[in-house]
Amino acid sequence: MTAYALKTRRMVLRDMGKAGLAVLVLGTTACASDPTDADGDTSSTSSGGDGAGTSAAPRTTSTTASSPTESETQRFDYRRVNLGFVSAYILYREGEAALIDTGVSGSDGSIELALTEIDLGWDAVGHVVVTHKHPDHQGSLEAVLSKAPDAQWYAGAGDVAAITADVEGIVVDDGESIFDLQVIATPGHTPGHISVLDPAGGILVAGDALNGADGGVIGANPDFSQDMQLANASIQKLAGFDYDVALFGHGEPVLVEASTAVAELASTLG
Ligand SMILES: [Zn+2]
Repeated sequence: MTAYALKTRRMVLRDMGKAGLAVLVLGTTACASDPTDADGDTSSTSSGGDGAGTSAAPRTTSTTASSPTESETQRFDYRRVNLGFVSAYILYREGEAALIDTGVSGSDGSIELALTEIDLGWDAVGHVVVTHKHPDHQGSLEAVLSKAPDAQWYAGAGDVAAITADVEGIVVDDGESIFDLQVIATPGHTPGHISVLDPAGGILVAGDALNGADGGVIGANPDFSQDMQLANASIQKLAGFDYDVALFGHGEPVLVEASTAVAELASTLG
């Protein structure tokens, strides 16, 4: 597998209030992608493992995270871990990484390979974010944590009790920050579903709040979502942020002007 770099140019016109000043922000997002990405599957096939019957994961109310120094914040690079019908993602910078989702059980080898391909090892993984409780997203959490013993893991309050791990997870809520990644509560697909945003680099990891389809974006899969009204409201919410790149649990990423695509989708959802 060959990694390649794709430069995207991020253009944000920001109206500076009264002054009416427009500021042009240019950004570069290095993107490594797997050329064997041909799973091409557009629609979500998330296995709806509601209440998968697990109990572990004591909850904590402690919050976390690195301090956001917004203007100084450096953007992340990302690496997709294409696991077939589902993907996990590594967001990394300066030798430190956050893993977003862990795939189904048995995915730790593929995640390790992806880390190797970006010259990182498990010791670089300080954070594991589980977007939601479904088994295709949390299935390898325990294996990942056993290989990255220093990593903390995070999930939304509505899902954390259904996520299996030997160590306590950290409950995160809307607006909190993990390693300079902004948590956006996106309930609906599951009650505690969260997405994460790299505000500096313009990268959204949407879990199953959105799906990639035909080069664009579609909403949560009604077959596996608990509350579609809430899921649609979460899409409206995601439309209010600015990002070029959107990464999904299922389907191909959108690499350019993703927030515009999400806003178009949101406008159809009433
Ligand atoms: Zn799901």
